Amino acid sequence: MTTGRVLVLNCGSSSIKYQLVDVADGVALAKGLAERIGEPDGHLHHQGTDGEVVRDDPIPDHVSGMRAILASFEEAGPDLSRSDLSAVGHRVVHGGERFTNPTLIDDGVVDAVDDLATLAPLHNPANATGIRVARKVLPDLPHVAVFDTAFHHTLPLHASTYAVPPAWRADYGVRRYGFHGTSVAHVSREACRLLGREVDDCNLIVLHLGNGASATAIAGGRSIDTSMGLTPLEGLVMGTRSGDVDPAVIAYLQRVADLSAQDVDDQLNRDSGLLGLAGANDIREVNRRADAGSRDARLALDVYCYRLRKYVGAYYAALGRVDAIVFTAGIGENDAEVRARSLARLERLGVVIDPARNASSRRDARSISPDGADVAVLVVPTNEELEIARQALEVARA
Ligand code: AMP
Repeated sequence: MTTGRVLVLNCGSSSIKYQLVDVADGVALAKGLAERIGEPDGHLHHQGTDGEVVRDDPIPDHVSGMRAILASFEEAGPDLSRSDLSAVGHRVVHGGERFTNPTLIDDGVVDAVDDLATLAPLHNPANATGIRVARKVLPDLPHVAVFDTAFHHTLPLHASTYAVPPAWRADYGVRRYGFHGTSVAHVSREACRLLGREVDDCNLIVLHLGNGASATAIAGGRSIDTSMGLTPLEGLVMGTRSGDVDPAVIAYLQRVADLSAQDVDDQLNRDSGLLGLAGANDIREVNRRADAGSRDARLALDVYCYRLRKYVGAYYAALGRVDAIVFTAGIGENDAEVRARSLARLERLGVVIDPARNASSRRDARSISPDGADVAVLVVPTNEELEIARQALEVARA
């Protein structure tokens, strides 16, 4: 078994989220968040081995954010210099066609992550900033980039190719890349473990239902189709993203509502999904409103669950044989109603949920289908930080 400790960093445009992970035990020894970087009301929260640090001071930039995080380790533990730290693992959203595996970072890799900003303008520049800052502050450790797209590099051409003009594909990289790969990699391995089967021998549909949401079809450990595309906008209904719409919507709204293409893109990403349908992006609030009689909230849940059923049906057809359907992330792990509704009336496909198991409030990886069901239905907690740590350690030790 691989042993070692990795500092996992997930750097956004105004935040740095981090965990110190012990890979062998799979536990986080410390975790925290520096947020509102560059704003007047910066905030840092660190949970260490010797207590907590909470600080409400301005954090002018990412360098000061990283220094404040290192100071919190000194104050509330663990002592990083004695933590036997083996690597720093960086979450990077888009790896494009170049990065199909976790990659040891050098200057060229950081520049390439920056260059991929054309594909992920909200995420990659922040990821590159985080890497630059962390390399400056922790220069003696190997730094490894773990890409959210990488798990999907196995997509066959018939699944990754959009039927669009050749120049779009050849010159601009317009194709399906897929996201949530780190989560899906972790959850699919855990699912096979739970089933007692080898990864090579397992066909799975993984439904990652968090604020972002995606479905992935996995045959023998390889992603063969996934619902997110060039960007994370495509596919399932999400917290604030529409998922699938007719692409003609953009030109239509330019004509009739005088919106720019950028306006429509922003609204499809930020004002749509559950928020656009029900006025709330958190499904717990949507459930509350539906229970209180809101028709909008009920429709939002209908659309959400129906879209899920369609993808399950499509990926069943793509795989031919399904050993398990796996729910993960905030909604997938916690919302029994969504699980039950999205798989209702699929008995003829061998998909059945046991109501008592589904309603259980257990937090561990578990089956919610009856014993001996043709298709197991599983709930598996995701752990992206552990997966990043594991992959970073492997690269650092290679
Ligand atoms: P994630 O992106 O995986 O952190 O998931 C965030 C989403 O999960 C939230 O916006 C909620 O909609 C949902 N969620 C979190 N906790 C619960 C819960 N206990 N019950 C139902 N939904 C939840």
